[in-house]
Amino acid sequence: MEYAIIVCGGSGTRMGALPVNKTLLPVGGIPSAVRCALAFRRAGCRLVLVTPPGGEKPFEEALRKYGVDALLVPGGRERSESVKNGLRCVEDEDALVLVHDGARPLVTSALIQRCISCAREHLGAVPALKVSDTLKRAGADGRVRATVDRTDMYRVQTPQCFYARDLRKAYDLGGEGCTDEASLMENAGFPVTLCPGDSANIKLTTPEDLAMADRLLRRVTRTGFGLDAHQLVEGRRLVLCGVEVPYDKGLLGHSDADAALHALTDALLGAAALGDIGQMFPDTDERYAGISSLLLLGWAAERIRAAGFGIVNCDVTIVCQKPKLAPFIPEMRARVAGCLGIGVSRVSVKATTTEHMGYEGRGEGVSAHATATLEEYLTCEEDEENAAE
Ligand code: MG
Repeated sequence: MEYAIIVCGGSGTRMGALPVNKTLLPVGGIPSAVRCALAFRRAGCRLVLVTPPGGEKPFEEALRKYGVDALLVPGGRERSESVKNGLRCVEDEDALVLVHDGARPLVTSALIQRCISCAREHLGAVPALKVSDTLKRAGADGRVRATVDRTDMYRVQTPQCFYARDLRKAYDLGGEGCTDEASLMENAGFPVTLCPGDSANIKLTTPEDLAMADRLLRRVTRTGFGLDAHQLVEGRRLVLCGVEVPYDKGLLGHSDADAALHALTDALLGAAALGDIGQMFPDTDERYAGISSLLLLGWAAERIRAAGFGIVNCDVTIVCQKPKLAPFIPEMRARVAGCLGIGVSRVSVKATTTEHMGYEGRGEGVSAHATATLEEYLTCEEDEENAAE
């Protein structure tokens, strides 16, 4: 079993987003630190996340939202202290430890595996890219002093991979002032070998890096469809899209029987391929008896977001002969938008009749149809994996 120590300390002063830690900034809608954690989880690593001292709370919340299990450890003032704290959670001396910068959200499991294989063979591995730009040495005035020979120059990234026992020994010798684990290991006399890095594995330092990271992700959209119908009976309330419509009949069902929200919930779950409303909230479960379907929609939306999707828009059509629904449409749109946490302009609710044909036309029931569009931002690797699964 390999361990990932994801370091999320650092003040991020060049990001200009203080007091938010830069590893909590969203990249393609998902916090950088969470993207890192998901990549290491895909690679089968046990996760240790080092937070800024006293700042565990927002990390705990972010990880919980995306359903990621990680050990949270408060960091120290210096990077070396933070990594040392993380290292205390690694009990197995013979385990490989990958130390990763929480501000490198585009790390892939392929890169992680490459570092692990290289470390197994050579004891210590760091991903690196050959420098292709010409290097200059210049003074503070911008005046060039010299051109530096770049033939054996490399830019080093993370994750940096070493055996726990070796890292611990190196830290016991003192790690103050080291900007990465490789320099610590070099100073302590351990071998460090370069493996091919990934040019997309950029580090978020300035707001431009954040924009670049977003551009390096692929936007994938997905559409879902939902359909539901309930019987109109006496002695029940008529609730559609979370709004009670005055009428002498209402919809029959286990919950509040809001057919419109049931169709919409199914459309959203369908777009995410997360099953359907009946699987998520079985009508045999007493907890859902008489429940407002707005709550069900909200919970489903939470699950959808936790799976990495953003909600783009939705469109609901209610098929109902009587009563007239037009006066209630603005309130219905507002309820749905509030529940989904998106703008009203992204929520469409329409009503139609069937010209007295069929069960809706005879006033025996109400049906609803809905579509929903989701978006997600994936690394090329994630997109290809999803396509193949
Ligand atoms: Mg239903």
